[in-house]
Amino acid sequence: MTKWWAILAAIAGAIVLAIIATTPPMPATLAASAPQFSATRAMADVAVIARAPHPTGSAEDAAVRAYLGARLQAMGLEVSMPTGTMSAAAAKRLAVWRGHPAPTPPLVNVVAVLPGQDRALPAVLLMAHHDSVWGSPGAADDGAGVAAALETIRLIKAAGPQRRDLIVLFSDGEELGLEGARAFFANDPRRAHVGVIVNMETRGGGGRASMFETGSDNGAMMRLFAKAVHRPVSTSLSVFIYKKLPNSTDYTVAKKLGYPGFNFAFIGRPALYHSPLATPDALDQGALQDMGRQVLDLTRALLAAPTLPGTAPDRVFFDAFGLTLISYAVWVGWVLLAIGALGYGVAAFGRARLGDMARGSGMTPALLVGTGVLLYVGNLVSGADGKVNYYDRLAAIPRLEVQALLLCLAGAAAIWGLIAAARPGSAGQTGGMAAPLLLLGLFAQATAPTAAFPIIVPLLLGGGAAAIGRFAGDRAGTVASVIGAMLGIGYMLALGFQLIEAVGPAMPMVAAVPLALAAVLAAPLIPAVSRRTALVTAGVLVLLALAIALWVRLDAVAPSVAVYSSDH
Ligand SMILES: [Zn+2]
Repeated sequence: MTKWWAILAAIAGAIVLAIIATTPPMPATLAASAPQFSATRAMADVAVIARAPHPTGSAEDAAVRAYLGARLQAMGLEVSMPTGTMSAAAAKRLAVWRGHPAPTPPLVNVVAVLPGQDRALPAVLLMAHHDSVWGSPGAADDGAGVAAALETIRLIKAAGPQRRDLIVLFSDGEELGLEGARAFFANDPRRAHVGVIVNMETRGGGGRASMFETGSDNGAMMRLFAKAVHRPVSTSLSVFIYKKLPNSTDYTVAKKLGYPGFNFAFIGRPALYHSPLATPDALDQGALQDMGRQVLDLTRALLAAPTLPGTAPDRVFFDAFGLTLISYAVWVGWVLLAIGALGYGVAAFGRARLGDMARGSGMTPALLVGTGVLLYVGNLVSGADGKVNYYDRLAAIPRLEVQALLLCLAGAAAIWGLIAAARPGSAGQTGGMAAPLLLLGLFAQATAPTAAFPIIVPLLLGGGAAAIGRFAGDRAGTVASVIGAMLGIGYMLALGFQLIEAVGPAMPMVAAVPLALAAVLAAPLIPAVSRRTALVTAGVLVLLALAIALWVRLDAVAPSVAVYSSDH
């Protein structure tokens, strides 16, 4: 019997969930009477800050600092602008930007304090950088962070006296190598008063804002975050991945010194990163709203907390489509994995044919490797084989997203046609497909438990649906499979999108993992198709992907690339 309705319902639901997960909120208007964060209001500050490029030492940056000082003073904060000396490396970078060496300007941080009721309590530090790179208005980087901080302070001030001090650091020279943050945490006497940090950054000009990095041993911090932040966007996977990447922000300096903290960023509209086109008009106000509203919730909770969260073992956490934060202790991962394995086990026990299981268990590695190779080759064709302009590759990300999706679908169709055609959707084959991923989940849980949930949770959904099908009958099993596939594939679509956005220009191969998990969840619902249909579909998808790859390869360098980048 055909199951087209089931797989179509699952995929339609998954697409809706993925769109919910990846779409930033609407910017709140000025008229909003509730004391809520308003990106519309914050945009007035962005418009001034990002009027022109304002790198360290420029007259434009001095004007930005004066504006920020006046804004903070008008809100009743104690403002100071301590100066520091730039490192030789930073002076060199600045000289390259300017095209001539001397003189090296001083670093000037903007520091302000909103006194709390008990000034002896450790303070909350709100941090963003006031400098831009050379040639970019920096509306997002870090105009959005600075403006979000100002709007947050306005709302906190309006709510009346807070328990503890709020310190604001608008750092200088972030773009020259975290210079202002280094100066603050080395010399400023107020550094000893800081108990926790909330930092804001961007690597692009839009998309959802995520709390992507925490201080180490974040268990207690994440309990507070989960309670405080409405509709949070955050996963322990990004905390894990970011630790492995060479990227840095002002919080990097503080984290090394052991300061607890929360780091927010958005990375959508990647072409705008360090771009001359990163004007206030180009900034996604939804991204600003998304960052500001989360930072406001969190800062309020930190200011009100009787004691700031200390260190406690890391927790596993992820937002369910940006709606709520699911969070559990690391050991719970073992239990979820066992339940998923048990589900697939009981569904297959005594019913599954050995041949189906063997075929299924061969499909997953074939899918991972086959699609990984397609993605790798597609990336080379798109231009990754030669010398690349980093910013031009960022600008290509929207097309690389489509290319990756087409190649993932092609890989799935090809493997389905080559291996599964005979008895699709049998318990043996589905269990066989899950088996290698259960092993992968076991390995991830043992070696990187905070990064294991994207493997374990889909297998829990799939195993649960398989068990329901065994004990409650085919109809109930199909309904459970549709719900499991909707949730799991929806999450994998959003995850794949975010992975390509984050590392796609260099490592699109990572998309094969969410693909394999989505395939296991889809497997019980996919009707039989002829081998020929599957392979022809795969071929057409590969050709479309290659056409996009060639487009990316052959078009001119994007007008958005940083003015100081190679071959501009
Ligand atoms: Zn920045």
